[in-house]
Amino acid sequence: MDEETDCPGPGGTADVVCALCGARAASESAPPTWLCSVENGSRHYFCDDCARTHIRAIEGRLDSAWW
Ligand SMILES: [Zn+2]
Repeated sequence: MDEETDCPGPGGTADVVCALCGARAASESAPPTWLCSVENGSRHYFCDDCARTHIRAIEGRLDSAWW
């Protein structure tokens, strides 16, 4: 059950940090340009730069461990 986009958000408290480069979102929810991927039941965010770089892997539904 993987969802790549349109995740309901972190609930308003957790920091949104890119799982790849560590960039922080300016707001407490992921910007619309960020990707959200659910892997093994936990949510990972990817900034727009990383999303663009890895879009093919993301669309291929590979876990980021494969990148
Ligand atoms: Zn990033």
